Amino acid sequence: MTQANQQAVLKQRFQDQIVSLFGLKTAPEVPAIVDAVLAEAFMLGASDAHLTPSAHGLRVSWRLDGVLHPVGVIPQPLSAPVVARLKVLAGLLTYRLDVPQEGRIPGNSATNRREIRISTFPTLHGERAALRFVESSGRREVLSQIGLPESILQSVSQALDWTSGMVVITGPAGSGKTTTLYACLREIVSRSEQSRGVVSLEDPIESALEGVAQTALEARAGLGLAELVKAVLRQDPDVIAIGEIRDRPTAESAFQAALTGHLVLTTTHAGDSVEVLTRLMDMRIAPYIIKSGLRAILAQRLLRKLCCVCRVEADQKSSQVGDLGTGLDQWFEPAMEGCSACRHTGYDGRLMIAEWLELGDNSVGRALASRRDARPLRRLVEKSGAQTLMKDAIDRAKAGDTSPLEIRRVLGSGRF
Ligand SMILES: [Zn+2]
Repeated sequence: MTQANQQAVLKQRFQDQIVSLFGLKTAPEVPAIVDAVLAEAFMLGASDAHLTPSAHGLRVSWRLDGVLHPVGVIPQPLSAPVVARLKVLAGLLTYRLDVPQEGRIPGNSATNRREIRISTFPTLHGERAALRFVESSGRREVLSQIGLPESILQSVSQALDWTSGMVVITGPAGSGKTTTLYACLREIVSRSEQSRGVVSLEDPIESALEGVAQTALEARAGLGLAELVKAVLRQDPDVIAIGEIRDRPTAESAFQAALTGHLVLTTTHAGDSVEVLTRLMDMRIAPYIIKSGLRAILAQRLLRKLCCVCRVEADQKSSQVGDLGTGLDQWFEPAMEGCSACRHTGYDGRLMIAEWLELGDNSVGRALASRRDARPLRRLVEKSGAQTLMKDAIDRAKAGDTSPLEIRRVLGSGRF
């Protein structure tokens, strides 16, 4: 119910800011609409805007704090010209409507507009355009600023002093893995004062890191990531960051590095720490290799933070969410129509929840070596007292930082 009300406000804004421009009889109608779309997305702090052609016109959605909100439709005669105008701004080929294209619209300091990455894709009703508003380059987060819970922050911080072994950062797309990886590398560089050689293999390089020899994968001249990892080992590094492990050869090279006196930091796409273990086993990495090479897993998720101006204490009797069955007896929910501080979404910004699992000669490590599968491993992790994603999320709901509804959206109902 609240979602619908919040979207009504966003739709009204779209109506006021953008629909009012349709049918302008002046020549710059399309540029004015495009400017208004970009300005509105920027005003709201959207991370992305999606323009999807349909039989009725171009459907517009904003992504705010990770959630997509449909807001309105640009009518049919204008929809192709609007996408074409964006392509002009990004220097793409406007006469090619049949191939996917990628480009960027440079930022404009005069109007305070950030750089925009655009990709277009041909669909049945015309070209779809996805816009991503690039974070301002001024944001250089260090480890203590990324929002890790205190106990996990300490563990991660200690792990960065390890001289061998692998640390895997995991989560789905958009869970902030790269931000964490970058923050770890900054921490290593600043702590070691250049006394440790740090190299990274990335796809793509998202921002330049002082003190790290970064290589973009497109520079690999036909070499696979696995070969690149082997080649970079001959450069005598102490710390190797590998953007993402996606296949067995890369995983094998990464373990080889981790087992020969290098600290390897990497990310992989998995739901939680146990899923990382099962994914590696699915890649046919031997459990004893995993146990001896993989020293820790950081699993993370971003949850929307309740707007502290308008959040409301839940009325337990009327709440449909329940207490998640975890003894949560008091919690907050987003206000039905939000407020101007939170763009009427009830949420303002995001927070990170995390799970930290160390392996080695502990119960989880031993179970892994005897090839247990996911369910018993998960039970062991829970029994070991490790901070899990769910525990951390419940703690944040208790503190009023997020809502059970949001936890359920992000962690799914399968975990309750
Ligand atoms: Zn609010």
